[in-house]
Amino acid sequence: MTKRAFCEALLAVIFILFSINILPTSSQTQIPQWIRIGIYYADKYGSSSPVVETRIYAKGGLYIGISDDKNFVTVANTQKDTLIVSKDVYKKDGKEEANIHVVVGRYISYATAKDALKNYLGVYKDAFVGYVNNGYSVLIGSFDNLQEAKKLQSKLKGAALYSSETMALVKDETGKILFGFDGQNSKFLMLIPQQENGIEKIKVDNRWYRGRVEFKRIKGSDMTVINVSKLEEYLYGVIRMEIDPFWNIEAVKAFAVIARTYAVRNLNRHGALGFDLCPTDHCQVYGGAVDGTYGEKQAVLAVDSTRGEIITYKGSPIDAVYFSSTGGIPTEDSENVWKYPVEYLRSVDNSKEEKNSKSSWTFQFTKDEIKNMLKKKNIDVGDILDIKVLEYTKAGRVLRLKVVGTAGEYECQKEATRLLFGIYSQAYTITTDADVNIVDENGKVKRTRIDKSKILTQEAVDGEKIFSTTNSLPSNEVFSTIYDEVYQSESNAFPTGNIGALDKSDTVKVVKEDGSIEEVPVVPTTYTFNGKGWGHGVGMSQWGAKGLADNGYNYKQIIKHYYTGVEIEKR
Ligand SMILES: [Zn+2]
Repeated sequence: MTKRAFCEALLAVIFILFSINILPTSSQTQIPQWIRIGIYYADKYGSSSPVVETRIYAKGGLYIGISDDKNFVTVANTQKDTLIVSKDVYKKDGKEEANIHVVVGRYISYATAKDALKNYLGVYKDAFVGYVNNGYSVLIGSFDNLQEAKKLQSKLKGAALYSSETMALVKDETGKILFGFDGQNSKFLMLIPQQENGIEKIKVDNRWYRGRVEFKRIKGSDMTVINVSKLEEYLYGVIRMEIDPFWNIEAVKAFAVIARTYAVRNLNRHGALGFDLCPTDHCQVYGGAVDGTYGEKQAVLAVDSTRGEIITYKGSPIDAVYFSSTGGIPTEDSENVWKYPVEYLRSVDNSKEEKNSKSSWTFQFTKDEIKNMLKKKNIDVGDILDIKVLEYTKAGRVLRLKVVGTAGEYECQKEATRLLFGIYSQAYTITTDADVNIVDENGKVKRTRIDKSKILTQEAVDGEKIFSTTNSLPSNEVFSTIYDEVYQSESNAFPTGNIGALDKSDTVKVVKEDGSIEEVPVVPTTYTFNGKGWGHGVGMSQWGAKGLADNGYNYKQIIKHYYTGVEIEKR
């Protein structure tokens, strides 16, 4: 080695050492190879429930495996495409009880137990290999009756009885038991498909998944069924559920990085149930195997070309929240929607967002519908008199809102101002059928509720004076109407000049600009919400990402646009 080459080599070594040193410590958290997604589980929202039995299929055959949450061991090739996995129970008087089995022998492996099984099958056709008490044995019979089980036990030397609420059975299509497994919640039964071109594909009832399937039996519960998938392959199955894979690939790639970041940050979110993420929008919507689905190639490309990349802030995976669209207004600061300010979730420009069906929208509700919406949330303010936006955010979203009723007021803020009405976003204005144009003393035209203002009417269209309150109002509260002239509906004297003092069921006649006369209620009977965008408005706008991608941004630029001050790290 020449001196120069040596120096270069030395520099390279120093550089590598230095590079390792400057990496933030959290970089050591690796992206796991596997992820667990619940398929059947106890969901308190009722969108899923554990099952008594499930049907598993794989082209080319299924292997039995055992996992301990970290490692998987394949113990047997069943040489069957279809298997049924079920709880090991019988029903008596409507109550479920664990079956009783007679256990003989203790073997070091599935294979030796299978050899021993041959000696029993001649006499006991229902004998099968089981994994109980942390080892392999031969199990005979499934009894719902202790006496009968004991009778058989007495005939077999060294036999014991076994019954467990955490046992699962693997059966063939005819119902014959091939394997019994009780890992007592420290080891779990797995079914692993024969690989096809290096890919594992397995069908659970009617849906295909990449990877394998794990079964967890929690005492007193049905079976929890889990898809154990390679994390990158899981992401294939997320893309098409959350974004159109045929969009500009840079937008789809940005989304792949976001979905990966979400998965890594939320590992073990459903740890109490034995898996990482659920397949619903509680976590990320997951549609199972990507193979043969809409936009498969694009989804795979987006995930593969960003493999291992996640978004970090100060070295930790971010909460990469996203939503559909803002209608072109800026995104929102996190604290204006949720509780806390998050440094990387700041309001940013979204003017390049592509127009979509929710860019602008209208919802109209009657006052009774609003009353019922509040009632559903156990809020009772009586009949609705008005809904007032008290404050908007800088970006244009409702920050604080008040509902005024005959029996009280209700004030809410941030995201609640959207969720209360079930409308698309927090960016809206409210108009009502009681709105009129009035001109204040400074000549400024205002659109407002009649109810809100003290209105002094001067003349009707024909010039006839209808009434005048003259002295009763201080001049600075007096409005005259120009565009929509307001005058009293009945011939009765107008009490104080304050229309708010009219009966709540009254209407007043309004002279419109074109001279026509319209009856306007004093209290609004309908509320119209004119809004923009769809979703919470924090983080990345999906239609915005599409707009940026179509304007030449790459996925990294898109991500850095929507998440302030973040890095994209490959782990
Ligand atoms: Zn979830």
